[in-house]
Amino acid sequence: DHGLSEADPEVRAIIDKEKDRQYKSLELIASENFTSRAVMEAVGSCLTNKYSEGLPGKRYYGGNEYIDELEILCQERALAAFHVDGKNWGVNVQPLSGSPANFAVYTAILKPHDRIMGLDLPHGGHLSHGFMTPKRRVSGTSIYFESMPYRLDESTGLIDYDMLEKTANLFRPKLIIAGASAYPRDIDYHRFRKLTTYYMHGKIADDVGAFLMMDMAHISGLVAASVLNNPFEFCDIVTTTTHKSLRGPRGGMIFFKKDPVHGVDLESAINNAVFPGLQGGPHNHTIGGLAVCLKHAQSPEFKIYQNQVVSNCRALAKRLTEHGYKLVSGGSDNHLVLVDLRPSGVDGARAEKILDMASITLNKNSVPGDKSALVPGGIRIGSPAMTTRGLGEKEFALIADLIHEGVQISLEAKSLASGTKLQEFLKFVASPDFPLGDKVTKLRTKVE
Ligand code: PLP
Repeated sequence: DHGLSEADPEVRAIIDKEKDRQYKSLELIASENFTSRAVMEAVGSCLTNKYSEGLPGKRYYGGNEYIDELEILCQERALAAFHVDGKNWGVNVQPLSGSPANFAVYTAILKPHDRIMGLDLPHGGHLSHGFMTPKRRVSGTSIYFESMPYRLDESTGLIDYDMLEKTANLFRPKLIIAGASAYPRDIDYHRFRKLTTYYMHGKIADDVGAFLMMDMAHISGLVAASVLNNPFEFCDIVTTTTHKSLRGPRGGMIFFKKDPVHGVDLESAINNAVFPGLQGGPHNHTIGGLAVCLKHAQSPEFKIYQNQVVSNCRALAKRLTEHGYKLVSGGSDNHLVLVDLRPSGVDGARAEKILDMASITLNKNSVPGDKSALVPGGIRIGSPAMTTRGLGEKEFALIADLIHEGVQISLEAKSLASGTKLQEFLKFVASPDFPLGDKVTKLRTKVE
């Protein structure tokens, strides 16, 4: 039995290159992080070998004594990390990732073609919240359910709660989804909760009402550290990925209220939707890594880390504003900023490419009012990963300066290649005789 270097030098070499890239670049993708060595050890362990369909104590295969012990420990830690009482809340730690966790919830509580409302993707929502375009139902969620996305108020960049309320009262969704992938502000769960009650001739309509789900994937670390509002106070169901601000292995979790909601026993409906509804055997190595992550998440250091994530993001937002950039919503309460580059004269796709060439990794992102999703007008910048690497506010101000330098290069490149479509621009900047190559190299050297 050989180790990786001996058994497969080709894969070893690719992993080494990726590791080098991760460590040399400024990792600013808001949904990414660096998990701990302890988590990776659990993920790379013999737990990957075991089949354990079912739940602890109710498995379809033998040999699950220790897997049961592990999954129960993981569940207990999940409830403790989010400060929820095991009497009122339960959790399923088996979802393979965030999108499957969300789909398991829909499978549990909705019938095909039931109505749902989630934040529109071009306004910061996630695909799995029901994204569709006028031409195409893009996400499985919009294929199987009737989706009516809510949006931001474009003048403020904040969720348009008033419009959401009006639409919800007409559309009467069975499920309202809070949560986002690119929303820099905190969420008013109390306001969302009020939307789940419908009125008929001024009176509460007793037999209809919506479930409220929060997908806290992006901010779950901040929620665990009580840095942001607590969704558990007002929601029926809370889903999350485990690999973003929470800093665990790639995976998903679903928290549910134990008391029936609208006559539905969420515990059995959700557990059955995960298995046998959508999945087979759980990824026990991930559950092992998640248990480790959830232990970390209860430590004082984790709270300090999450506070630093927010302070760093504010320092970044402040310095970007000083450079004259327009931020969606004017700033940030959480771990990310969304920069509207349109007034600067360049789009997110071109800026992302030049920044990537300079080892600054972030992503192009739609901003309210955008016409094209392929060439969106903004970039999304997140602080969790580089905060894990130990950077503080001073360094994040410097990061804003480096981003500014990169955006200036992308503006210059755009004018050199004026009139070209995105694909031609990408070829132009990647060619060996790109006239601004030296400037990019200089910036990359500074970054690395
Ligand atoms: N929910 C939100 C809010 C997300 O931002 C994401 C991913 O970025 C997901 C769900 C999906 O997670 P996954 O990529 O693990 O399916």
